[in-house]
Amino acid sequence: MAMHSHIERILWSEDQISRRVSELAAEVSADFAGCSLPPIVVGVATGAFLFLADIVRKIEFSVPVDFVRAESYGSGTESNGAPTLSFDLKVDINARHVILVEDIVDTGHTLSSVIKHLKSKGASSVSVCTFLDKPARRKVKVQLVGEGKFYRGFECPDYFVVGYGMDFAEQYRNLPYVGVLKPELYK
Ligand code: 5GP
Ligand code: MG
Ligand code: MG
Repeated sequence: MAMHSHIERILWSEDQISRRVSELAAEVSADFAGCSLPPIVVGVATGAFLFLADIVRKIEFSVPVDFVRAESYGSGTESNGAPTLSFDLKVDINARHVILVEDIVDTGHTLSSVIKHLKSKGASSVSVCTFLDKPARRKVKVQLVGEGKFYRGFECPDYFVVGYGMDFAEQYRNLPYVGVLKPELYK
């Protein structure tokens, strides 16, 4: 796909993303290979949908997949710090290992509230697998549960990025690469 005219520059191309997702899937597969029950993969809708679809197809065993939805952004570019869970799991995660799949961890508020929720549902461990991590903007530390691990695709510089699942006002999610949105479009 040619670069969209609203994108200032591409940070990760489709090929770079695909290679990195393969590496992450290999790590996850190795880490959970010895478990008696496979981990349950939980995506945070909507942003994680492409990353989740790509990584689960590269994991070397069958995994249950489910989603939660957490909303804090509306159509802006700043987290309001109090995400609400607007839909919940169907799968029972009690006494199971969970891998929470996210598009990007920014302030950490979304992930923290979802992790608390998964813990309250009895998950024996919660790992996080985020495609991007923006540590420069972290406000709350991400507390994993049990023996949970933190996997990340790439460290993201402090720009507002879109594509590969990530939106601005529900646009650009289907771009197969990650790019910096031209600031004049949201400022
Ligand atoms: P947090 O609660 O960690 O501040 O934000 C997490 C959510 O905000 C992410 O799952 C994502 O949906 C959204 N978000 C954070 N940074 C960005 C960004 O640079 N671009 C886009 N499109 N969404 C972002
Ligand atoms: Mg998200
Ligand atoms: Mg969004």
